[in-house]
Amino acid sequence: MTKGIVKGIVSNLVTVEADGPVLQNEICYILSGSARLMAEVIKINGNDAYVQVYESTRGLKVGEAAEFSGHMLEVTLGPGMLSRNYDGLQNDLDKMEGTFLKRGEYTFPLDEHKRWDFRPLAHVGDLVKSGSWLGEVDENAQSHKIMTPFSLNGQYVVKHIAVAGAYTVRDTVAVLTGADGNDIEVCMMQKWPVRRAITTYREKPRPFRLLETGVRIIDTFNPVLEGGTGFIPGPFGTGKTVLQHAISKQAEADIVIIAACGERANEVVEIFAEFPHLEDPHTGRKLMERTIIIANTSNMPVAAREASVYTAMTIGEYYRSMGLKVLLMADSTSRWAQALREMSNRLEELPGPDAFPMDLSAIISNFYGRAGYVVLNNGHPGSITFIGTVSPAGGNLKEPVTENTKKVARCFFALEQDRADKKRYPAVNPIDSYSKYLEYPEFQEYIAQRIAPDWTEKVNELKTRMQRGKEIAEQINILGDDGVPVDYHITFWKSELIDFVLLQQDAFDKIDAVTPIERQRYMLELVIRICRTEFTFNTFADVMDHFKKLINICKQMNYSEFKSERFKTFEKELAIEEE
Ligand code: ADP
Ligand code: MG
Repeated sequence: MTKGIVKGIVSNLVTVEADGPVLQNEICYILSGSARLMAEVIKINGNDAYVQVYESTRGLKVGEAAEFSGHMLEVTLGPGMLSRNYDGLQNDLDKMEGTFLKRGEYTFPLDEHKRWDFRPLAHVGDLVKSGSWLGEVDENAQSHKIMTPFSLNGQYVVKHIAVAGAYTVRDTVAVLTGADGNDIEVCMMQKWPVRRAITTYREKPRPFRLLETGVRIIDTFNPVLEGGTGFIPGPFGTGKTVLQHAISKQAEADIVIIAACGERANEVVEIFAEFPHLEDPHTGRKLMERTIIIANTSNMPVAAREASVYTAMTIGEYYRSMGLKVLLMADSTSRWAQALREMSNRLEELPGPDAFPMDLSAIISNFYGRAGYVVLNNGHPGSITFIGTVSPAGGNLKEPVTENTKKVARCFFALEQDRADKKRYPAVNPIDSYSKYLEYPEFQEYIAQRIAPDWTEKVNELKTRMQRGKEIAEQINILGDDGVPVDYHITFWKSELIDFVLLQQDAFDKIDAVTPIERQRYMLELVIRICRTEFTFNTFADVMDHFKKLINICKQMNYSEFKSERFKTFEKELAIEEE
């Protein structure tokens, strides 16, 4: 095992002179007094390894010893991760006092003693390879598959499989024989390096299935697909958290993983305070039962923050390999990029735009590329849908993190200060936001078959109407109400109707908060019907009066139980209004 001596310290960047071979991204431990500080190799130059320490380096001295571990930063994967709160290095935050570990202290991320009710799925003689399902246990309400190690190469034969019964994560549940005749023992947990994607699937086709969220501005206008990617830039107070909660609660996902990488300490604390109370509308139980939180606050060292998104993604890939639908949300990826920037600056690398690392674009695109819809080797589908928030400084969408994210994320939900100020929630800008999936023929076909044959045309029509409405609003601003023809007012008010009835949605109203897709289809048809009606009015005031009435009725529909008696009375009123 390679050992080393600390030669230089710049904040969390430590130079270690190594006495043997060192791997890029290898984990090493610095023995500072009685503490063992975990660190990761980020650059090697001759015998010098530059390592980023995941903890405060306060009190560390030149001349202290280091030990290289021979492996990269890993997570421990196995049953028992659901409902947990981890930090970016997968330390169990609930196992420690307060929210912070003592320096140099790391906890075991699973429950070592718990006995899981194992049921075999494989049989003696079966041929298996990496990621094959050997058995299953119940983890909360999910069937948690026990898989062969992802690190296996080639084919193995199942020599022994445990009978149904109670086992701990360390008990052997299977013995596999390789082509070389050697046996390996498999237990219910395994380790995997977080910076390497788990790719034990047959193929990774483009996503095509709608991931229903119940949020109209998403599902109807800018749909996210199962295995798709999206991002939400937004200044403070524009509704990122509310939207994130809505998506986490309502999206049809089996597993929700929240990577909270240190916006502000209190925001991370807020996640711990709020998530346990969120109810799962699908089961009526607690959302935490199918959630894992990975949190790093901004007062933790940047390196740990940087690692946390990879930890979250790897855990996501683990559950995806079980054929589950995973929703991964990262808040905020700007903090992650800032961590990359700090490390890169300390290394005195040649900086790219805004002092971010030159390869920021590749780093972001590789990360987003790990999400996706896959078909596993056994034919089952699985997915990771990834949605990240970005908090651009001063709301500037031209900065490198936003721009590079825009290149890879397929959906863009731009939260806008102006809309939030007007209380038009969710404050997603209807013109700038998009979902590239609307252009995918696979999705168009899927939605046409399942929901409505002309769905995408109708959505595009509404988008064009919103754009036209905006242009007219600008003209009215300059020329005054009387300065434009009455017809312009009609076009403008049609766009207001789309906005108030479809785009705006009250996250705090029991009924309005969640709109199932069937109901979205109904409202889309209704609004299209009104928009396609040719109205004639004498004055702009008449237009306004009429549309305010229409909007009011439609909004009351949004607040009423779908197809209830009350709902039907509004339908009748609208029919009368339209004659
Ligand atoms: P951020 O996380 O971006 O700082 P929040 O998600 O905390 O912002 O939202 C700020 C406030 O905006 C909320 O407390 C709420 O009052 C209001 N808000 C945001 N989205 C909605 C919504 N969909 N419906 C109703 N109110 C909302
Ligand atoms: Mg927030």
